[in-house]
Amino acid sequence: MHEMALMGDILNLVGTDARKNNIKKVKKVNLIVGDLSNALPDALELAFDVYKRQNIDFLDIHSELIIQKEAAKAVCTICGTEYIPEQKIAVCPMCHIPTGKLISGETFKVDSYEGD
Ligand SMILES: [Zn+2]
Repeated sequence: MHEMALMGDILNLVGTDARKNNIKKVKKVNLIVGDLSNALPDALELAFDVYKRQNIDFLDIHSELIIQKEAAKAVCTICGTEYIPEQKIAVCPMCHIPTGKLISGETFKVDSYEGD
């Protein structure tokens, strides 16, 4: 499950930033996960839960992970149709060729976090 590694990276980022800002406990991590980001929200929740129980100094059992999903959207570079692509190679439903340019859905990032 590569979400374990992804979550590890996220917690490294958050932890480094929290230390810099003198935040001792992170209470909430707000994450944006695109539908095409290759990360499964359920698995991320699970990974967060595992890390939470591993005595990481800035997390405790009450720390929360909030996942905001970002829908996939593409626009055809030829006819301009906007549509929901099934995958990263977006095939325009009008032109039937992969002319789509993804405009959202690939995001995977920490939006913000809260703590004190
Ligand atoms: Zn098109």
